[in-house]
Amino acid sequence: MMKIKIGSHVSNNGKEMLVGSVNEALKYGENCFMLYLGAPQNTFRKPFNELNAPEFLEILNKNNISKDDVIIHAPYIVNLAQNDPDKHEFAVRFISNELKIMSKIGLKYLVVHPGNHMNQGMDRGLELIAGSFKEILDITAGDDTVILIETMAGKGSECCFEFSQIKKILNIVNSNRLKVCFDTCHTNDAGYDLVNDYEGVINEFDRIIGLDNIKAFHINDSMNERGSHKDRHQNIGFGTIGFDTLIKFIYDERFIDIPKILETPYVKGLKDSYPPYKEEIIAIRNKKFNENLKEEVIEKYENSIN
Ligand code: FE
Ligand code: FE
Ligand code: ZN
Repeated sequence: MMKIKIGSHVSNNGKEMLVGSVNEALKYGENCFMLYLGAPQNTFRKPFNELNAPEFLEILNKNNISKDDVIIHAPYIVNLAQNDPDKHEFAVRFISNELKIMSKIGLKYLVVHPGNHMNQGMDRGLELIAGSFKEILDITAGDDTVILIETMAGKGSECCFEFSQIKKILNIVNSNRLKVCFDTCHTNDAGYDLVNDYEGVINEFDRIIGLDNIKAFHINDSMNERGSHKDRHQNIGFGTIGFDTLIKFIYDERFIDIPKILETPYVKGLKDSYPPYKEEIIAIRNKKFNENLKEEVIEKYENSIN
């Protein structure tokens, strides 16, 4: 059987911090995972020693999980396309600091939503983002960390929903510390036809950017039609992309060593919402869509059967 790298977004909070993250991933049967260094929607960061990095690294080691398969996601409120000097400065400092923290832990890949051009136009937005990345890579020069530009859905004034927009930034910055994270929901919502033309989309990415630039995948189904520019994730097999197309990404020989991260929504039960990742990963490993997945997740948590 083919050895796949599959995991999910996990939380990072409370007293346990990173130790809680890796234990959550292990509970779901994952061999790679992704987390925020603090809350996803703000830029508050705890003191370094409260992250529990040494114990975290020990657990990774014991479970044969490579540090390079632990992906960090930058908070999505940071916008690197800002013209205002103070806001620009804050964003650049903040992302540089995230990279410094990662470097201290020994983690490599930081996924970044490149930015929103607001009313400045796409070209100006891309230039501003490229300038921000240049500064960030200068500030952190000599480190082994790598920034991954996420393929976006094109919601509002989001930059980088077309491969050529990402390529423009890569060309300007010209650094081997700037690569790409491919999000399946976002590319579908951006208009790429993953369902009917998987090879065509992959070939287009290869021609414009180069497949070897992909260092992480976000594997999500989509609630909306191709080209909707909405960005609403759906559980694997329950959306417009569908189970079989998502399986193609996960088992594609060309991407076999690249971490695949689920960012699918929690399942809403009567009392609360619950993580679907353990069940989604079982379905992925079986290569068989589980149409009762949501019911099974709710049942498990609300009747606390494990
Ligand atoms: Fe993202
Ligand atoms: Fe994503
Ligand atoms: Zn998204």
